[in-house]
Amino acid sequence: MIAPVSPALPPAPLAPAVVAVAANPFVSLAYLVAGVCFILALRGLSSPTTSQRGNRFGMIGMAIAVVTTLVTHVPSIGSGWTMACEIGEANCPFGSQIDWVAVFEILAAIGLGALIGITTARRIAMTAMPQLVAAFHSLVGLAAVAVACAAFLNPVAFDIADMVVPMIGQPFASIHVVSRVEMALGVAIGAITFSGSVIAFLKLNGNMGGKPILLPGRHALNAGLLGAIVILVAMFTRDQSPWIFWTITILSFAIGFLLIIPIGGADMPVVVSMLNSYSGWAAAAMGFTLHNSAMIITGALVGSSGAILSYIMCRAMNRSFISVIAGGFGASDAASGGGAAVDRPWKRGSAEDAAFLMSQAEQVVIVPGYGMAVAQAQHVLREMGDLLKKEGVRVKYAIHPVAGRMPGHMNVLLAEANVPYDEVFELEDINAEFAQTDVAFVIGANDVTNPAAKTDKSSPIYGMPVLDVEKAKTVLFIKRSMGGVGYAGVDNELFYRDNTMMLLADAKKMVEEIVKALG
Ligand code: NDP
Repeated sequence: MIAPVSPALPPAPLAPAVVAVAANPFVSLAYLVAGVCFILALRGLSSPTTSQRGNRFGMIGMAIAVVTTLVTHVPSIGSGWTMACEIGEANCPFGSQIDWVAVFEILAAIGLGALIGITTARRIAMTAMPQLVAAFHSLVGLAAVAVACAAFLNPVAFDIADMVVPMIGQPFASIHVVSRVEMALGVAIGAITFSGSVIAFLKLNGNMGGKPILLPGRHALNAGLLGAIVILVAMFTRDQSPWIFWTITILSFAIGFLLIIPIGGADMPVVVSMLNSYSGWAAAAMGFTLHNSAMIITGALVGSSGAILSYIMCRAMNRSFISVIAGGFGASDAASGGGAAVDRPWKRGSAEDAAFLMSQAEQVVIVPGYGMAVAQAQHVLREMGDLLKKEGVRVKYAIHPVAGRMPGHMNVLLAEANVPYDEVFELEDINAEFAQTDVAFVIGANDVTNPAAKTDKSSPIYGMPVLDVEKAKTVLFIKRSMGGVGYAGVDNELFYRDNTMMLLADAKKMVEEIVKALG
């Protein structure tokens, strides 16, 4: 579609236009196919057995969406108020006024992005995945802000404005009211996603302490800022003054920062999936501005699946969703919870002790955690499980929903090591079994086994369901030192119990020695 052309108006200094309305039915069909692929991708990713197929659907859908957008939207050199159009459209300047510089810029950006994506995916350690996800969300947020700013600065190019020629003064592009709402929401959600994700990245990456930073009066401040943003968005629908738009943008950056700094410790996984949801809604809002149905579908899928995942995680951690997203509601201003190891008696065991105890057992339940991921001990762990099974021991794996540093972290590692799926159990399915288990073999897990979550109201992990490993006859606990604490930074009372034997070493080395002793 050609945007309104007014020969009476002087040519405006426009950037090359690259956006057009997807009027072509084949374009809509291609976007619909892409949307169906994304739905199949989400469905596939819900189980380890179908996850690879899900990933492939996602890639195919994204390829269809990107190629369709590129081949149907031609960057043309703007002259006066003439805008971009779709191939085949009447009066389309395609073929005569292609802006090759813009084409080159787009292809170069895609090439650069692909290079960065491939290099990062190949090099990233599984343990650093959550911060990578947070970094990617920040880019989605920033992209939404960039699109909203571009649309605000050059609305005619985005086909979201009518030219108004006033009696007195300069002609100007009046942005449609609906587009103003989309633009304001897109920039607000995008900015919140960006600054929130940057803080989540810094916390997960260890550049900022994981502990909550609780500013005095933070709830009033957040509520005031949120109220101001809502009022400004309402004002923007009546008045498109630049100061309103830029104030919404700045306040949204600020509130993203303020919402995430008070969140710490055990709530971080929920924050990551919540930011995932925000990034989806930001993309959906900008899809409306760009008249791009693929973006709307994708954004809505990401937004709703992220919100559902956040809700499920909150339920799994016995946290209130509202309190997490409101930023540290219920978190105590005083430093809480245990700290590092205290001077209490504890028992140390060797690989040989562990091998003997497990080979005599009827049932061993293995509880993997973040330390197993750090040590990359999953392959040798499966070897140990196989040897025990040969000795007639029943071996099961217990997975806590937030073990490790990302949702599904342990499932991915165990699947990588070809651990049979029927030996892997979720918390709610295995917890009752610990009482009938001879050995609970905890490998690099800490917070997810800490009984303080059930008993100590001052603990930062209080209320989080944990694996009841202490109910097993013997608990073998692998970690490197007594001083090291888990993500929440609290000591674990389990280390000092009578039925616990500490195996202090790197997880991979210790399991290798156990395998030797079993062999
Ligand atoms: P934790 O972080 O509680 O504990 C990890 C344990 O592993 C520590 O005791 C550490 O002790 C030990 N360890 C570290 N490296 C090694 C190694 N090379 N060999 C042996 N042991 C090692 O892990 P959990 O999995 O129990 O709990 C996950 C925590 O992370 C929860 O608090 C959760 O809320 C949080 N979180 C989870 C996310 C998710 O989505 N899953 C995302 C972000 C945070 P030592 O140093 O002494 O070796």
